[in-house]
Order: sequence, then C-alpha cells, then structure tokens
Amino acid sequence: WQTLSDRINNVAPSATLAVDSKAKAMKAAGLDVIGFGAGEPNFPTPDYVVDAAAAACRDPKNYKYTPTPGLPELREVIASKTLRDSGFEVSADQVVVTNGGKQAVYSTFQVLLNDGDEVIIPTPYWTSYPEAVKLAGGKPVLVFAGGDRGFEPDLAALEAARTERTKAIIVNSPNNPTGAVWSPDTITAIGKWAVEHHIWIISDEIYEHLNYDDAKTTYIGAAVPECRDQLIILNGVAKTYAMPGWRVGWLVAPLPVAKAASKLQGHMTSNVANVSQRAALAAVAGPLDDVYAMREAFDVRRKAIVAALNDIDGVVCPTPTGAFYAFADVTGLLNRPLGEQGTVCASSSELAAALLDEAHVAAVPGEAFGAPGYLRFSYALADDQLAEGMRRFASWAN
Ligand code: PLP
Repeated sequence: WQTLSDRINNVAPSATLAVDSKAKAMKAAGLDVIGFGAGEPNFPTPDYVVDAAAAACRDPKNYKYTPTPGLPELREVIASKTLRDSGFEVSADQVVVTNGGKQAVYSTFQVLLNDGDEVIIPTPYWTSYPEAVKLAGGKPVLVFAGGDRGFEPDLAALEAARTERTKAIIVNSPNNPTGAVWSPDTITAIGKWAVEHHIWIISDEIYEHLNYDDAKTTYIGAAVPECRDQLIILNGVAKTYAMPGWRVGWLVAPLPVAKAASKLQGHMTSNVANVSQRAALAAVAGPLDDVYAMREAFDVRRKAIVAALNDIDGVVCPTPTGAFYAFADVTGLLNRPLGEQGTVCASSSELAAALLDEAHVAAVPGEAFGAPGYLRFSYALADDQLAEGMRRFASWAN
C-alpha cells in the first residue's frame, strides 16, 4: 500500500516551479537572490480586476459553486475574445474554464489520448507538456529545433516523427521557453499538414499579446480555417492580465471535446473558484491597455537582457520576439572553471545550480525544456534587479 503508482513515478517534478521555490526559500532565509526563474509578470493585477473580485467577495451569490464549465457570462466573453484574437467564431458551449492554463493542458490530453497515442511536441517545450501527455497514457515525441533556426519547427522533421499513432501536435507561439514567435509560414504549414494527416492541433496561445519588433502572433485557426474542427485552443489570464495566482485558464474546443473536458472537470475540481471567475470576467471583458503597457516595459528589459547575455563570453542568446523569456546557449561555459571557487559544470543543470548557490542568480536549466545546454531567463522582473542579476552572472562567469 506504500507504493506510488507507476503513473506518478513516471512524471518529472516541475523544474520551473522547483527553481522558483528554491529561490524563494533562499530569499526567505535572508539571502539576496535575483530570480529569473519565475514565469510570472512582476506587475500587479489591474485595479479594475481586483475591484471586481472584491465586490464579488461581498455578494453571497458567489459563495456557491458555478456551473462546471464556468460562469455562462465568462464563457461568453471568452468566446467573443476568441473571435477577436484567434480569428474565428466559436460558441460559449465550446469553452471550458479551468484552474489555470495548466489544467487546460492536462484535461486536453486526458480527453484526447488512449494508451500509446503519440503527441508531437516541438522542442524546446514548456515543461508541463510531456508530463501531461504521459499522465494521460500518451507518448511524447520530441522534435528539436535549435537557436540556429530561431527555434522554429522544421516541417520535414515533424513529418519524419509522424507515425500511425500520432494523435496530436502542440503549437506554442509565442513560445515558452524560447521567446520565439513562429512565422506565419511555419504555422500555416503545420496547420495544413495536421489537416492532411488528421492530427489534432493543441494551440497554446497564452502569450499571444506579448510580441516585439515586427513579430505578430499567427493564430493557426485563422491561418488555416480547415483545421478548426481539430483544433483546441488553450489560454488564460495569467500572463495577459498579470493574474497568475488567480488560477483561471480555459480551453476552446469542438463541442464533443469541450463536453468531455467538462465531464472530467465535474469529477476533478467541480469548477474554478467563483470569485476568481468574476475577476477573470472583468479582465477578459476589459481593454488590453494593461498588457500593452507591460509589453512596453518587457521590451526594454528584453533588449537589456539579450545585450547583457551576449556580452558574456561563452553565452549566445538569439533575440526573442515574444513572451518574456530569453533562452541562452551556455555550452561555452561548460567544462571550464567558473566563479571564485573555480567550479566546473558538466551540464546546464549543474550550471544553473552553481549559479544559484554561488552568485544567487536563479535561472531554469534547459533540461527542464528538453534542451540541455541552455538556460532560460525570465525577464519579468524589475529593471534594477535585471541589471544586478546580469552583473552577477557576468562577473561569476568571466
Ligand atoms: N502554457 C504555457 C506555455 C505557459 O508558460 C504557462 C505558464 O507558465 C501556462 C500554459 C499555464 O499558465 P497558468 O496555469 O498559470 O494559467
């Protein structure tokens, strides 16, 4: 009875959360740690959202359960927002409100996969995708694209990975961890290829409004209308409205998939916290001004961090055009003495540990994203912190 299931033993802990919690624990112990680990904006949730939540707290109708797939009015505004951004009409019935985008990822694979079904995951990937696939009995099939091709998937490589068991592919652009915004050509090619081979497309659009320079998010359902019947969109309020702790995300899917996800949710969580849904309603129904303001601030930091990283001998960082991550190739720092103690690191994972222990700078090793040899730096932190963190990294490394 003491034995854990194979299912859970097979799952890796979330490395991004692990780095973040170690950094937070070091901070709590009084150490001055600079955290590039967390994937959360350092801005407060907008006032009008907090006000809506505070009012909701005072209204006893919100002390009840909501319908399992979410408040009807929230599902309506999500459907409207999907038309506005993702570029095609969906009904509120197709929306399921989940406990963060993370649960939307989990539920999607639970309802789509049978044992042994394969999911093609363009790599570097967001750390939870393969684990969510495995938890549903599926097999993650990783297809790597490096910094040399701007981290854009190569259609020929995707096709080479396709088998009879391929059930789905994940599209995540703007991308975590690379910050890449995939080109319209790449997204369109993936959409057409998926239609041709009857492969589900899971489009994680959570960073949709964070792009820089000339990059624009290409929405696969708009670019390839034929794919809409086999498309599941994942999204949430965490990044767009600076609301990670409120835990509201959603999926938008063809009706049978949405109904199945709702059935699952009925046994798992019943519904997302009512007050959080009220806050999300205010956010999604509101303007995008706050995310545009955040984007401006992130853009300044993006330029600063990319310049600082590339100034370090042994580090190469392509310029990201989306999300709030810089994904740097650090292979040039491996197998050579670093810092005052002359620490030698054989992998990016050892490097991240030494950087945190010795220089008190937290970054997530590429191993967490299927890409050893890289470190991910989230630049969702204050400008002075960013500058100080880069100063420490540079003086430790060189
Ligand atoms: N998808 C991607 C690519 C993410 O980076 C994240 C969060 O880091 C999520 C989904 C889920 O976010 P949340 O569960 O906070 O809504």
